[in-house]
Parts: sequence; structure tokens; C-alpha cells
Amino acid sequence: MPLFLGLDLGGTNIKVGLVDHTAKLIAQNSVVTPAEKGPDAVLATMAQAARDLVAKQGATMDQVTAIGVGSPGPLDLKHGIVRKAPNLPHWVNVPVEAKIRELTGRPCVLENDANAAAYGEFWAGAGKNSDIRHFIAFTLGTGIGSGIVVDGKIVHGATGMAGEGGHIIIFPNGRLCGCGQHGCIESYASATATVKRTIEAIEKGWASEFGGPRQPISDNALAKSFKGRLHEITAKDIFDAAKSGDPLATKIVDETAETLALTCVTFSRILEPQMIVFAGGMVFAGDFLFDKIRAFYEKHTWSVPVPGPKILPAVLGNDAGAIGAAGVAYAKFAQ
Ligand SMILES: [Zn+2]
Repeated sequence: MPLFLGLDLGGTNIKVGLVDHTAKLIAQNSVVTPAEKGPDAVLATMAQAARDLVAKQGATMDQVTAIGVGSPGPLDLKHGIVRKAPNLPHWVNVPVEAKIRELTGRPCVLENDANAAAYGEFWAGAGKNSDIRHFIAFTLGTGIGSGIVVDGKIVHGATGMAGEGGHIIIFPNGRLCGCGQHGCIESYASATATVKRTIEAIEKGWASEFGGPRQPISDNALAKSFKGRLHEITAKDIFDAAKSGDPLATKIVDETAETLALTCVTFSRILEPQMIVFAGGMVFAGDFLFDKIRAFYEKHTWSVPVPGPKILPAVLGNDAGAIGAAGVAYAKFAQ
């Protein structure tokens, strides 16, 4: 049985997953990234984690057809090089594909980590065993990562920078995003941005992101229960408050959902995906969030009578990156 290994390289942990050709996860593990020791130590740890996981299954590296690596970027996909990794010190022009091949003796393919996670959901998660070929995944965390699959293939663009859906500008002259643009979706609808907007509303009064005057907040349950410790508010607290009918939390959640829905409409006009999934920090809210996104999608989409995308939560959780990296290896080396 051919096996595929996926390595999900993060600043804190390296996740490794062993997957078969049917996209079934056979085994997985996570090891600490020795980030401060530099690229060679990190690459050696990745290779060792891969070998250990394979050995633990009573298999050998010869049975592994190929290895996929999901990495933060920017990357030079053509040459398999990580050009720079913001959370990994000293990572400048690191030839990951060549190094992993050298250390493991197996073919290797490098992919952007958000693309790998999206491919994981497409291949082995929400899109598995379906006729879906056009698929988009967003991860709502500190920022918003995304990946696009068109006709079964990841969309890379000219230099590998395509699929950055979190950095679509939705509000011109809006909030400054970490990427340097103003008004990106990420600066409104990530888990972190949703918390930030809530704290700001409690401190300064509520103002709709869609315009209108700032209004004072009175008798707000969130503001009361987090008095003096607003920085401790999490996205879950906001969703819980919204579920209990708290008016401010409801407004915040609604605008997060509407922003995400507008993103779905935008992608539908350009690519007509069959499925759009959301992963990460806010997916725990389940249908409470997804029903809102679907309703706002219906509000904003055109009147042309064609079916819209299925809008669903992702199913693989934190495993999507490693499974997807293995999937990328499968897509490149299996046939
Ligand atoms: Zn941005």
C-alpha cells in the first residue's frame, strides 16, 4: 500500500501525518520546532519525526512514495525553497525540498501551509468522497489563511501568492491589516479581529463597520463580566454572549458573519466554488455562525437562479495541514 507523509511546519510545532492513497490518516504526531537552533536543526527534526512515525507503524521509508511539506511563506515553489518564514528565525532561502529529499531519501514537494490545509479539507475532509472539484477553505485564527482548489488543483498564481482570500479589501480606507493594506477581511473577521472589535466597542461605543455613528453601549453583559479585564475576552465568550442574546455581541458576530458572507459571494462570482469551508478559531460556534453566514450570503448574492456553494465548517481541525501536505505529495507523485 503506497504511503504519503505530510509535514506541517509551524513556528511552535511540526505536525507529521502518515496517510494512505485513499486519504485515510494512518498515524500522526507532533514535535516541538527547535526554531531558535536554525533551519538545519529544524529540517533534521522534521526528517527524524517522519522516520519515527513510519517506524512506529512497522513500515519503512521505502513504502513512503513521497513527502509533502506545508510551510509558512513566501515560498519559491518552482525550486522548493522557503524564501522567508516570519516565525522561524534565520529562515532565508532554505531549500526545503532538496534538504528533506537528502535527509529521508524520498521525493519531496513544498506547499504553502494555508494551501496545504485547504487541500487537506478538499482531499480528506469536508470535500472527501464527493463530486466537488472547486473548493475554497478559510482558516479563521489570528489572521485569515485560505487556499483555493480549482478543478482539483491548488491555484498558485504567477509566483505562488494566489489564494490569499483574507487580504481581499472589503472596506476601502478601513482598518490597517498586518499585510500593509487597509480594510482587508482579515482585519474584521479573523478570531483576533472579532475580539478586537468587541473590546473597542465596549471602550468607545459601538460603530457599524458598514458606516453610521458611534453609539454608546449600555447594560452590556460582556462589558460587565469582563470589567477591568477586557483583554481576557475570547472569541468564544463573544459567541456565547451572542447566543444568550447580548445585543453588542450579536452585532459583532453578525458583522463578522456578513463580512465572511461577502467574501463567499466575491469568490462565487470569480470561481463558482461548489464548497467553501471555514476552519479555526470560531468554527466551534457551529450552526449559530454558519446559519448567519448562509443567510447573509443569500442577502448579498445575485438573483441568477444557480445553486450557491455549500458553506460548511471544516472537519479535520489541526490535522488539515499535515494531511493536506501528504495530499499534495499524493497529487504530485502518486501517478
Ligand atoms: Zn491584509
